Amino acid sequence: MTSTDNGSSASKLTVTIVGGGIGGLALANMFERANIEYLILEKSTSVKALGSSLGLDASSLPVMEQLGLLEDFKVASKPVRHFNFYNEQIQSIGLVDFECQTEIGGYPAVILDRPTFYSILLKKLPKDKIHYGRKVATIEQDEHSATVHCADGSSYTSSIVIGADGAYSAVRKNMYKDLAEQGRLPPNDALPLSYDQHCLVGVSKPLDPSKHEMLRRETCDFEIVIPKSDPFYAIYMPLPGNRVSWAVIHNVEKAEAKSGEARYSEWGSGSDASEEMSNFVRHQRSVFEGMTLGDIIDQTPKELISRIMLEEKYFETWYNGRVVLLGDGK
Ligand SMILES: Cc1cc2nc3c(=O)[nH]c(=O)nc-3n(C[C@H](O)[C@H](O)[C@H](O)COP(=O)(O)OP(=O)(O)OC[C@H]3O[C@@H](n4cnc5c(N)ncnc54)[C@H](O)[C@@H]3O)c2cc1C
Repeated sequence: MTSTDNGSSASKLTVTIVGGGIGGLALANMFERANIEYLILEKSTSVKALGSSLGLDASSLPVMEQLGLLEDFKVASKPVRHFNFYNEQIQSIGLVDFECQTEIGGYPAVILDRPTFYSILLKKLPKDKIHYGRKVATIEQDEHSATVHCADGSSYTSSIVIGADGAYSAVRKNMYKDLAEQGRLPPNDALPLSYDQHCLVGVSKPLDPSKHEMLRRETCDFEIVIPKSDPFYAIYMPLPGNRVSWAVIHNVEKAEAKSGEARYSEWGSGSDASEEMSNFVRHQRSVFEGMTLGDIIDQTPKELISRIMLEEKYFETWYNGRVVLLGDGK
């Protein structure tokens, strides 16, 4: 068993961040700037970014600017110009204009792919601050420190623990177990997550820009196809490099997310949920002339396709003693 004292003396604040996703990596960049000692524990054995895109706007870009990362984001992204809506015949049924974003908020809305987003967040972080393959299982705390125990037997002690471990947070589970035993957990927090949407996402290989005008634009329009004939709709977002980020959203009957149920299902992962959803949606016409949604899916590397459950829940409790939650975990 490895036991690392990540520093628990009263004079020096040290932090264990559980989860090296967007929240954990962004926080680590802040700690680098603030000179706060930290360590990230990430359960995956390497960086694992979902094959999809991410939109940022005036609510988050000022933070990236303070972290000295804004220029990287500008180079790697496209500014969002419009949301264009279409029916099943790909006839326009409406438009939302985003061009006024900079005037309103001081920053444009931009879009980039997630693997690139991760690489920008990782750029300024020393490699030895992220310990991969560390799945946090349990946490204990006393007056002076908090200790996390990982599934591989390692443990880490620090002044505080920050759970940035996503929607199915193990840190939250541990915290809520303690609070429930003490009779201090609000009833709503004891209820499971639920979801009523399944989402299939991917980022295509480069497509031919000479055939598709929307790829040649400096800006990105979200092209949204909402057919009356299908129980799902599709969004296409052109990215730098002539690639297209796409998402298909299927409304399903509201269901409880079962404990231990995989949130993501990846192509070839043993579960055929991604392939199954892909077959279900592939007939729909896409905004790319002469191509169906299935043709776009076929132009996407399988490792960049995932099916995701989109959960919704508001948790009231986000800290207890020396343990605190951030991001999707709270
Ligand atoms: C399809 C889709 C599109 C989205 N688009 C946008 C968008 O355009 N703009 C936007 O702002 N947001 C968007 N979101 C939401 C955004 O992705 C999330 O809010 C964000 O990823 C949450 O970050 P996080 O760090 O809290 O969690 P995550 O990114 O889920 O990271 C959690 C990390 O913790 C790790 N982990 C989990 N359990 C453990 C454990 N026990 N021990 C150690 N590590 C663990 C995981 O491996 C993972 O790396 C989108 C979400 C989806 C699904």
